[in-house]
Amino acid sequence: MALDYRNLPADVSARTAAIHAGQLPSPYMENAEAIYMTSGFTYASAEEAEAAFKGDIERYVYSRYANPTVSMFEERLRLLEGAEACMATGSGMAAVFAALACQISAGERLVASRALFSSCHVIATQILPRFGVETELVDGTDLAAWERALSRPAKLTFLETPSNPMLDIIDLKAVAEMSHRAGAMLVVDNVFATPVFQRPLEFGADVVTYSTTKHIDGQGRSLGGAVLGSQEFVTEKLLPFLRHTGPALSPFNAWIALKGLETLELRVRAAAESAARVADFLAAHPKVAQTIYPGRTDCAGHDLAKRQMSGFGTLTTFRLKGGKAACFKALNALQTIRISNNLGDAKSLICHPDTTTHAKVPAEDKRLLGIDDSMLRLSVGLESADDLIADLDRAFA
Ligand SMILES: *Cc1c(COP(=O)(O)O)cnc(C)c1O
Repeated sequence: MALDYRNLPADVSARTAAIHAGQLPSPYMENAEAIYMTSGFTYASAEEAEAAFKGDIERYVYSRYANPTVSMFEERLRLLEGAEACMATGSGMAAVFAALACQISAGERLVASRALFSSCHVIATQILPRFGVETELVDGTDLAAWERALSRPAKLTFLETPSNPMLDIIDLKAVAEMSHRAGAMLVVDNVFATPVFQRPLEFGADVVTYSTTKHIDGQGRSLGGAVLGSQEFVTEKLLPFLRHTGPALSPFNAWIALKGLETLELRVRAAAESAARVADFLAAHPKVAQTIYPGRTDCAGHDLAKRQMSGFGTLTTFRLKGGKAACFKALNALQTIRISNNLGDAKSLICHPDTTTHAKVPAEDKRLLGIDDSMLRLSVGLESADDLIADLDRAFA
C-alpha cells in the first residue's frame, strides 16, 4: 500500500528514524502516533468500495489485511532493519510459523539449527512434518554439519543466533552462502540480538523474524511479532498467507511496539552494558561453574560475535555448582531479579530452562545442546547493575 508517511531526510541515522519514521499523520496532526482501534473501514460510496476491492485505489479495507497503526509499526521496523518489506503478526511464534509455512510445501526440506526457542523446535520437528515437510536438525555452530545437510537440495534453512538459552553464535554469512548453493532461503530468528546489535540481511539472510514481545516492547506488556524480507517475498508469499490465515497484530499492541522502537536502542545498549558487568561478576564468583556471555573473550562464539554483532546482547547464561538444588535455592533467595521465563524486559528476569522453557525438549536434544539442571538464564534489565550484582551475591551466599 502506498502510504503518505511523514517525510524525513533520506540520510538520517537509525536512532533518528526510530523516533520519527513511518508516522502516518491524521488530519488532526497529532504528535504521538494514533491508535486506529478499528476492525473495518467504511466507504463514501458504493463505487469507492468497488474500486477498493478491484485494487484500483489503495486504501484500508479490513484490519486483518492492514491497519494504519500496524502499518506505522511495520514501516518503522522496516527502516531500522534495512529491509524492503515488513509485516507484523500477533506474536513471535505467528511470525516464525508464517515465515516458514508461507513458502515450504510437502516433500520439501527444512534444515534448522538444533538450538531453537522451544516452540520453534516444535514447529520444525512436529508441526511442519505433519504436512509432509522433512526437517533435519544440525549443530548450528558446526559448519561441516550444515555442509553435509545442505549437500542435498533444501527449501529453507532456519536458525537463531545468539541461541536460547546457550547463546551459541552461528556464522550467518557462511550459512547463508551454503543455503543459497542448496537452493534454500535462510530465515533468522533475531530476537536475542535485536535489530540494534545484528542485521542478518547484511550477511545474506533472506528473512528475519522477531517476537516484539521481548526487547521491542521491552516492558512486558504485549505480544507481537514481525517478519522482514524482500518485497518479492512479502508480496508473493507472506502477504497472501497472513491475509488468509489471519494472525494479525492488534492495533493497540502495534502501538505499544511502535512506541517501544523509539527507545529500543537506548534500552538495549544500557541493558547490554549491565549484562557485561553482571557476566564478569558471575565468571569471578566461586559458586559459578561456567558463565556464557558472547562479549567475554572466554566465550566460544566471541570472535564470530564481534564480526557479525555490534553489541553482545542483554542475556547471560551460567552454571551453578550444586546443580538443580543450588539453582532453586539461589532463585528463591533473589529479591530484585524475578523468576520468569520471559526476557527482554526492563525488569531483570531469570529462569531455570531445564525445568521450564526447555522442560519438554527431548533429553537427547538437551544433552546435545548442553542444557542441564545446573543452568540459569538471566535476562538483564534496566536496573542499576550494582543492585543486580548485589542481589545475585546475596542469593549465592
Ligand atoms: C519469545 C521468542 C519467540 C516467540 O515469541 P512470542 O511473542 O512469545 O510468540 C520466538 N523466538 C525467540 C528466540 C523468542 O525468544
